[in-house]
Formats: sequence, C-alpha cells, structure tokens
Amino acid sequence: MGKQITDEQKRVFFDCSKCPAYCCGLYERIQVTKRDLNRLAKHFGVTPEKAAKRYTKMWDGKERVLKRTPDPILGEACQFLDHETRGCTIYHARPEVCRTYPDRPRCVYYDVLKFEREQQEDETVLPLFQITFREVEKKVVTDEHGSEKIWEWKQKKR
Ligand code: SF4
Ligand code: SF4
Repeated sequence: MGKQITDEQKRVFFDCSKCPAYCCGLYERIQVTKRDLNRLAKHFGVTPEKAAKRYTKMWDGKERVLKRTPDPILGEACQFLDHETRGCTIYHARPEVCRTYPDRPRCVYYDVLKFEREQQEDETVLPLFQITFREVEKKVVTDEHGSEKIWEWKQKKR
C-alpha cells in the first residue's frame, strides 16, 4: 500500500533524487552513536565491536564517525555512498544524524544546485562546494575611523 499523505507531514523544498548527495560528502564527521553502532552491527551481522572497527573511526579522540572513501564527484564521501546511484547503500541502517538531516524544510545545498541550474539553464550543472570549520575569535580593531569588531581565525592543526 502506498504511503498516505496527511496534513501533518512536513512539506519539504528539496529533492534528494536530483542531488549528488552533497551532505554525504561535505561533512567529514557523520556521527555514530552507540545506538547507531548497534544498528550497523545488526545490519551487517557482526558484533558492535567489529562494526566499530570496520566502519567507523574516532574523530579528535572523542567522537565516533563513519569512515570515508574517495568519491569521483565530491573528492571524498561516506564509504556507504553508492558512486553511481548517489544513494545510501545502508539506508535502513544509516545513523540517526543522516535520518534527520537537514531537519528543516529547505536544504541549502539543494537551493544552490537549483539556483545554478536555473541560472545557467542547464539541468546537468553541478556546483561543487567545500566547507571548512574553524574556531574564530572576535577582536576589536581601532583606527582613526573608530572601532570595529572583526573575526579572526587560525588554521587548526590536526
Ligand atoms: S544535500 Fe540536501 S538535497 Fe542533497 S541529498 Fe543531502 S539532503 Fe538531499
Ligand atoms: S550513511 Fe548513508 S546517508 Fe549517511 S552519510 Fe553515509 S551514505 Fe550518506
């Protein structure tokens, strides 16, 4: 039986089937909780310890995340992303963070994709992004024109 559409279902303004799965590639950290790990283990028929070793790694020594592999479009992406279909190969066992993303009616990457395709009148255009997170500090700079708050950041060493 097909899924019944009701008024309670949130309307969304993005279509993942038209997107190369930016969200599976742009984020270096796809968090894996204990519950996610158990789900992964069950899916692959292995122990949670084995699933942790095979499919995850520690990020900054404090957060468990999915391992990544080279991706022909995005450079690098989650190891579970199918390079051809651009779909998730563990859809029913994917972590919670993937289930809820983007957690709002719009997806910023889809908006850019749609904007560029309309702008260039070409449905095959694929804008590529890179996202880097840095710690920033607010600093007050003063000169002859007055004072102003600016953001200052340093490259994080890994
Ligand atoms: S980036 Fe947005 S539109 Fe693309 S797959 Fe992810 S959620 Fe869907
Ligand atoms: S588990 Fe699936 S949905 Fe989540 S990042 Fe990997 S490929 Fe994408």
